Amino acid sequence: MAKTLIKNGTVVTATEKMEADVLVEDDKVAAIFAPGTMEVSAETVVDAKACLVIPGGIDVHTHMELPFGGTFAADTFETGTRAAAWGGTTTIIDFAVQTKGESAMEGWEAWMEKARGNCAIDYGFHMITGDINDQTIKEMELLVREGVTSFKMFMAYPGVFYSDDGQILRAMQKAAEDGSTICMHAENGIAIDVLVEQALERGETDPIYHGMVRRSILEGEATHRAIKLAELTGAQLYIVHLSAWEALDEVTLARDEGLNVWAETCPQYLFLSLDDLGNGFEGAKYVCSPPLRDEDEGHQERLWRGLRTNDLQIVSTDHCPFCMGDHHTFGTQKQLGRGDFSKIPNGMPGVENRMELIYSGGVDEGRISLNRFVEITATAPAKMFGLFPKKGTIAVGSDADIVVFDPDGTHVISADTHHMDVDYSAYEGWEMTGNVKTVLSKGKVIISDDSYHGKPGDGEYLARGQSQLSV
Ligand SMILES: [Zn+2]
Repeated sequence: MAKTLIKNGTVVTATEKMEADVLVEDDKVAAIFAPGTMEVSAETVVDAKACLVIPGGIDVHTHMELPFGGTFAADTFETGTRAAAWGGTTTIIDFAVQTKGESAMEGWEAWMEKARGNCAIDYGFHMITGDINDQTIKEMELLVREGVTSFKMFMAYPGVFYSDDGQILRAMQKAAEDGSTICMHAENGIAIDVLVEQALERGETDPIYHGMVRRSILEGEATHRAIKLAELTGAQLYIVHLSAWEALDEVTLARDEGLNVWAETCPQYLFLSLDDLGNGFEGAKYVCSPPLRDEDEGHQERLWRGLRTNDLQIVSTDHCPFCMGDHHTFGTQKQLGRGDFSKIPNGMPGVENRMELIYSGGVDEGRISLNRFVEITATAPAKMFGLFPKKGTIAVGSDADIVVFDPDGTHVISADTHHMDVDYSAYEGWEMTGNVKTVLSKGKVIISDDSYHGKPGDGEYLARGQSQLSV
C-alpha cells in the first residue's frame, strides 16, 4: 500500500478549518489527525507548512476540443486537463455533443473516445442534447445508466444547438421522470439573432457589438421561461454561466419558492466587463456567450453577493479557448470573425485560472470566506452533479484529490507561462495572491516543485449519480 503524508498544513473543507495532518493510502484519504498524535511512516511526505490543504477543484463546465463555428476549441483533453491540474483542479465535467440528426448515445461514445487515455485528471460528461426527438428521449434514460445524469440545452444559437420550448418541455418531462438534471444556456437566441442582423446592417462589426446586442434582459427572460417550464414539469434545473442580475433575480425567486433550481457563474463575469470587448478586434479575446456585461449596470457586485448568500452555488469556467492567431492543429480561430463579430468563435480560456482567481479576488479581497471558496469550487459542484463524497471534500474514504495551496505566495498570470494551449490570457499581467504548490490526484502527486509528474490516461471516467442538492 502506497502511503503519503501531508503534514504541517491547515485543512480546509466547506465546513471545517483545522490544523491537521492527512494520511493518504493508495488513492484514498485514510486518516485526518491532529499533528503528532499518530505514528506514521509514509514513503512520500508533503510538507504543507504555512499552507492550506484543500479539496481539488471541480470544474463542471469545460469544452475540450469542442467543434464550434468552423473550428475546434484549442485545448484537447490532454492539454486542457493538464492545465486544469496546474491550476489546482482535479476533476472536470465536460460536454459530449449530440448534433442535429445524430444519436445522443453515439455522440457520448464519440466524446468518450476523445477523452479515453488522454486525461490528466478524472472526468465526467454532461450531454448536449441538440436534437430532442423520440429517439433522444429514450437515449436520455440509457445515458443516465452510463453515469451521464445531466443534459444541456440551448435557448440560444438557433440553427445550431437551439431547442424550442416544446423540445425543452419534452426533455424536462423525461428528466423529471428519471431524476436527471437539465442544464440550460438561457439566452433568447431568436431575439438576439434579429438584433445581430440589425447591428451588422448598420455596419457595427467589431467585437464590442457582440456584447451590446446580447442584452442582459434577454438572459433574464430566458431564465424566467426555463424556470417556469421546470416548475411545470417538476424537473431539476441548473442555469449555466449566469452573467446578469436579471437572471440572478429569477433564480433567487425560484429558490425562495422552494424549486430545485440552481446556477453557476464564471470568473469572466465576476472580473471582466463590456469594456474588455472594446479596443477594436482585440476584443475578440473576450467574446463568449452570454457576453461580458456592462460594469455600470451592477452585475458583478450582484453576482458576488449571490455567491455569498447561496443564490449562486458554483463557479465553473466554461473553458472554451480559441487562439487569436492560428492554432497549430486547428488552424484559424478568432480571426474568423474579423469584419463580422457574429462569426467570432464564442469562448475563452480559463480552466487553469479559476481557483487562483476566486481565491485572490474572492477570499483575499474579502468578498467570500475561505470555507465558501472551497464550497463553490469543489464541494457544491460534487454534490450538484452526483460525485460527493468521493469528490469535493477531504474526508476519510474520499478520493485523495488534494491541493496544497500557499495563501501568501504571489504570481502573475501570463500566456507566456500558462499551460493551456492557447496564445493569450484573458487575465494577462494580473497579480494573484495565493499559489497552487502541490496537487494530488487520487493519491498521486501530479504537480510539485513547479513540475508536472503525471501522464495522459491518469484520469478516469466518472459515472455520476443523481444530484445530491435536490430535495
Ligand atoms: Zn459552455
